Amino acid sequence: MHSAQPVFRFAPSPNGYLHLGHAYSALLNFDLARQTGGRLLLRIEDIDVTRCRPDYEQAIYDDLAWLGIQWETPVRRQSEHLDAYVDACDRLTAMGLLYPSFESRTEIARLVAAEEAKGPWPRDPDGAPIYPGHARSLSDDDVAAFKQSGAPVALRLDMAAALMRSGPLTWQEDGRGSDSETGTVTAHPEAWGDVILARKEVPTSYHLSVVIDDALQGVTTVVRGQDLFWSTSVHRLLQQLLGLPSPVYQHHRLLQDDVGAKLAKSAGSTSLRELRSQGVTPADIRRLVGLTTTA
Ligand code: GLU
Repeated sequence: MHSAQPVFRFAPSPNGYLHLGHAYSALLNFDLARQTGGRLLLRIEDIDVTRCRPDYEQAIYDDLAWLGIQWETPVRRQSEHLDAYVDACDRLTAMGLLYPSFESRTEIARLVAAEEAKGPWPRDPDGAPIYPGHARSLSDDDVAAFKQSGAPVALRLDMAAALMRSGPLTWQEDGRGSDSETGTVTAHPEAWGDVILARKEVPTSYHLSVVIDDALQGVTTVVRGQDLFWSTSVHRLLQQLLGLPSPVYQHHRLLQDDVGAKLAKSAGSTSLRELRSQGVTPADIRRLVGLTTTA
């Protein structure tokens, strides 16, 4: 019998250049794989067709190799596996847990504003307003009419129905060295409302793809940033609904830049390639992210 070999993964989105925060996450996964005799997978999360670019993907390979990280090939690129996500959506639809939602962003913003005019309206753990629409209760005729009009459609999870089916859920958190809760954490998927599982532009979503891929790739330990801590609630729920195993999670601290803000591509944080061009070495990067010892 095989002993359970740990499987780690680093799963960046090629929508910008990697920065120090990514270096920390990738090096942590690499070190842990080394220390535990485990495997390290690289997954390219490129479902966002409008923001992902091939040159950013190439830059990921270059930057990780420069850091001295080795990963297994072939690399899984999510854009090549849309059929696996469609299949999962079909299964959830067959369970009566998904419904089509046609509203535009503008329409949703208008519905939220109308709710907020009446009083406080709940926000999800990322601070976005919970979906306020009524698409869940559209009649079959209305849905058919929308579909016929050719309007793009998103698929949302009927959270109340999903929770009835799953019952209470927990996940195993092993966030050593971070400010995460550790041990058995109670999942609160309801905090996200009726999340989108298939977007209008692409028949999947971050939540769905990550859960399917972690299971398909046999990932045993998900090491990723603290910003995704509460997303794990949704991931745990989807695992339960789809009969998939749940990895152990280890959410790590987020690096802050000199002004204390979270590092992010969107905030124009200094990219690894820029640091490299300034003469910074991979060993310097390890020191900068607080990983002083090599694996
Ligand atoms: N692709 C996600 C990101 O770049 C990370 C997903 C994950 O680790 O679960 O933020």
